[in-house]
Amino acid sequence: MSDSLSLPTLPVAGQQPAGPVLGIDLGTTNTLVAVWQDGAPRVLSDPSGEALIPSIASFPADAPPVAGRNALDRARLDPERTIHSAKRLLGKGLADLEQERRLLPFRLVEAEGRERVEIDLGDGRRVSPVEVSAQVLAEARRLAAGALGCDPAELERAVITVPAYFDDAQRQATREAARLAGLEVLRILNEPTAAALAYGLDRRGAGRVLVYDLGGGTFDASLLQLDEGVYRVLATAGDTYLGGDDFDRALSDLVADDLERRIGRRPQELDPAARTALRFAAERCKKELSAAEEADFVFHDPAAGLAFRATIGRDRFEAAIRPLVERTIERCRQVLRDAGVEPADLDQVVLVGGSTRVPLVRRQVEEAFGRPPADAIDPDRVVALGAAAQAGVLAGQSDGMLLLDVTPLSLGIETMGGAVSKLILRNTPVPARAVEGFTTFVDGQTAVKLHIVQGEREMAADCRSLGEMILRGIPPMPAGLPKIAVEFTIDADGLLRVRAREERSGAAAEIELRPKHGLTDSEVENMLKSAWDHAQEDMDRRRSADLHTQLQTVIRSVEKNADVVRRELAEAARSRLEEALEDAREAGPEDPPDRLKGLLDELEEAAYPLAEALMNRVAAEAVAKRRLDEVLDNGKGV
Ligand code: ADP
Ligand code: MG
Repeated sequence: MSDSLSLPTLPVAGQQPAGPVLGIDLGTTNTLVAVWQDGAPRVLSDPSGEALIPSIASFPADAPPVAGRNALDRARLDPERTIHSAKRLLGKGLADLEQERRLLPFRLVEAEGRERVEIDLGDGRRVSPVEVSAQVLAEARRLAAGALGCDPAELERAVITVPAYFDDAQRQATREAARLAGLEVLRILNEPTAAALAYGLDRRGAGRVLVYDLGGGTFDASLLQLDEGVYRVLATAGDTYLGGDDFDRALSDLVADDLERRIGRRPQELDPAARTALRFAAERCKKELSAAEEADFVFHDPAAGLAFRATIGRDRFEAAIRPLVERTIERCRQVLRDAGVEPADLDQVVLVGGSTRVPLVRRQVEEAFGRPPADAIDPDRVVALGAAAQAGVLAGQSDGMLLLDVTPLSLGIETMGGAVSKLILRNTPVPARAVEGFTTFVDGQTAVKLHIVQGEREMAADCRSLGEMILRGIPPMPAGLPKIAVEFTIDADGLLRVRAREERSGAAAEIELRPKHGLTDSEVENMLKSAWDHAQEDMDRRRSADLHTQLQTVIRSVEKNADVVRRELAEAARSRLEEALEDAREAGPEDPPDRLKGLLDELEEAAYPLAEALMNRVAAEAVAKRRLDEVLDNGKGV
């Protein structure tokens, strides 16, 4: 969850306009693909007019994999090798999936050598959730190519949406899936943000927006704050096991007694294929009940010789699902409580997800928040449309606002003495780049350690450590001579790349980090608050650390010239210098800054005759002078 800032797009010089950028809503149950066309986002459909791509892939033993609608048909024939709900598994290890394991019909196993889950197809083959999602994305790409009348190869770029609560591993897995499907992800967008974009809520001045997303198997409530182009997720809550599938189950339960009476078996006693057929029958009936006061529940499985029909009234269905709907409302209240927002403070409530078509859901939401929710856009399509709106901007086809994240906390490196040198300040819009020069602290130093930290405090120990990197291969040189350029770049998805390069030797090192990994918004808030609370103390400690570092530099350079001191300084100057040196050596980085400043002033003062003596020397003068300059300019060392 991150702040987003919108900026007008700038044309990128020298970039060839490529094919359209796809906006893809990769759902747990259904996937949709949309593009920006003729000034508006448009959802794409297959030749029969169907836009929903079931998020299912099937891996037959003797044929290439199929995905989407074709895989749906195989769910009854080959349930073991037909995988759905892969989104629940993305970026997860087996240990994270206790609950899924019991509910999903296929076998989950730990991938060898990686803490990632795989699916055992039962024929000696395994597929990863990333591969399953890649098949679904490839199907979306094919559908788009068909609808646009182009070659799939021309569709290479996409904006893909994910739930706001997805962590880095889950987002990364989504990117991997896209790459496998031949798509470069230009942006990972939060689903609720996409919904708000589709409605253009920010442009219409909405401030606080509650996005209520009830899909096939999951419920997500997200509270967004939209102002002056900043899209921020204030809080999220949800239930990863609550959705339209539960409505289907409730409906099957309603007919269970009837079913038993007529065919002698309860739903759970049916074989897997018949159970799947029953599920489909329930879903069909449920959808009809969204439009009609009563509907037929028609279930037949010719292979098993089963046939069943019953009429269900909407009121019975509503009574059965009411507790489920109430649970979603309770989650919404939770989100508002977490963010300290009253229902009356909401500017808009937006409905997302196929299950919000159920009339009871709409009524309950309206009642709970005292206003009719925004439902002008088809709730199945709203996320894909928002993704396409963003894709249009990224492709340069639309001059709308480009959503850019901002860094929630400052990023920097630890310098000598434990202080932090911040390269990228908090709230900087990303992508961002910053370069700063550093040097060595010790003569002959051939490696430097770069400790990368995140936070607002002045001392590295009080910030969050993101990682370390060692730059090796610096040729031995006097301290202060190497020129080390440290470059921070953050891409649009918050990936931080740190590069360090010593200019003379070309020695270089590089590391990639995820700055926000595992940080919740409240942790970010705490870090900011703590920086504020400790501002004075921090400044003192930082000053002390810097002064102590400078003191060490001067001590070293005096020590290096001990023989000059001995031979060329007058008695009085020498003893003053030795005394100052003695005092300076006893000082520690914890000492108050004023004391360190006093010691540094005294030492520099006392070293003045030494500097003069060095300057008066002949042949080696150039070198000596340079060292003197180093002493005097107190370059930062790492
Ligand atoms: P996800 O985001 O999880 O992929 P969707 O937003 O596509 O899911 O929602 C799929 C769910 O919406 C399914 O459970 C489906 O049965 C349900 N759904 C779709 N249309 C209707 C309808 N007209 N009435 C009731 N439920 C519907
Ligand atoms: Mg969805």
